[in-house]
Amino acid sequence: MSGVKAGLAGAFLTIDLDAVVTNWRLLCAKAGGAACAAVVKADAYGLGAAEIAPALRDAGCRDFFVALPEEGLDVRAAVGKGPRIFVLNGTPTGAEADFIAGSLIPVVNTLGELAGWRAHAAHIGRAVPVALQLDTGMTRLGLSAGDTAAIAADASLLDGIEVELVVSHLACADEPEHPANAAQLTAFRSMRRDLPASPASLANSPGIFLGADYHFDLARPGAALYGINPTPASPNPMRQAVSLSARVIQVRDVAAGAGIGYGHTVSAERPARLATISLGYADGWPRNASMCAFFSGVRLPFAGRVSMDSIILDATNAPASLAEGDCVDLICAEQTIDEIATAAGTIGYEILTRLGNRFHRRYVKPATATA
Ligand SMILES: *Cc1c(COP(=O)(O)O)cnc(C)c1O
Repeated sequence: MSGVKAGLAGAFLTIDLDAVVTNWRLLCAKAGGAACAAVVKADAYGLGAAEIAPALRDAGCRDFFVALPEEGLDVRAAVGKGPRIFVLNGTPTGAEADFIAGSLIPVVNTLGELAGWRAHAAHIGRAVPVALQLDTGMTRLGLSAGDTAAIAADASLLDGIEVELVVSHLACADEPEHPANAAQLTAFRSMRRDLPASPASLANSPGIFLGADYHFDLARPGAALYGINPTPASPNPMRQAVSLSARVIQVRDVAAGAGIGYGHTVSAERPARLATISLGYADGWPRNASMCAFFSGVRLPFAGRVSMDSIILDATNAPASLAEGDCVDLICAEQTIDEIATAAGTIGYEILTRLGNRFHRRYVKPATATA
């Protein structure tokens, strides 16, 4: 849970559960009358579902989404009985009994999967709860308009099936002006008419900010819970939930002209002080993101290439007190996940989910928690 022992770690990841809960509450408010789930797939985007899911449950979250059944079983162990856990990536053939045992609700994406669940319901002699995902235009996962028309024409396709939720996913929600948003909304409304009346869910994090038409009964944010900006064209309304710091493992003074790091891509232009930190691309820091570390708020730019396990900083302007064993900040108020992602040519989602497992992890409890 807490990863590497603090005394042995090279880097430290702090996850602010209070910020995650505050973000969830803000998203609930933005979602108006809709309930708000939490997407905790990929170990809560790399931050630790075993800590995050119970914190959100204690704040009142009743619905969780994961990608894989194994993730669902881990979340079930973390949150106990009660909350619903939906598995987005469908049901591997023959895995129905595992879903039932863990009280996981499958998100059914194909008519073949639906047939498997009908057969399982007949086999166990009772109805099974499922969610149906509709492909309204992302062309990734879900039943097509032809599939829902087939269900409308033949009600026996839902024999033994209780449709708990109808889900679809937006391809372009982070671009509010993109015409695909309205087109998917129209398709969603139309395809739902083929199905028995049941609660619906369309909006991911940016989708919540598209307005009330997109809210339906249940919002499904992931990234925004963890501090990623769901409105990339505007200032980030979310609180930062993650910080990363790394230990300085060597400080040295070098002469002008010293070649620095792999490939000697840079050399010291003048006599310089360098500090090497215990963090590298094996920890998920993108090799192509040459950024800064911060020591007491002073920027220490990376010097030369990011190595697997270390990064060299130009610490010439650092306070003289900077010493081996000190920690410098890499994900912090001065340098956000979204900024690092931009520098690396990717998105904050990838930065978060690639954070490695060599950190000492610290979880800051929500302010309201008693334990
Ligand atoms: C990942 C995912 C989400 C959450 O998306 P965010 O952009 O992280 O809020 C919601 N729904 C589905 C189907 C997803 O795959």
